[in-house]
Amino acid sequence: MAEKTCAVCDDKLDATVIEVKIGDQTVEVCCEECALKLREARTAS
Ligand SMILES: [Zn+2]
Repeated sequence: MAEKTCAVCDDKLDATVIEVKIGDQTVEVCCEECALKLREARTAS
């Protein structure tokens, strides 16, 4: 099984993974800061 990495900063994910729903898919990030960046990138269209 491949190691998961943060979708924003590419850090390895550990126990503190945060799931962010983007449309109909779920993206995993390492911290709340990255989750915010994802949401901002999504809504700033
Ligand atoms: Zn991250």
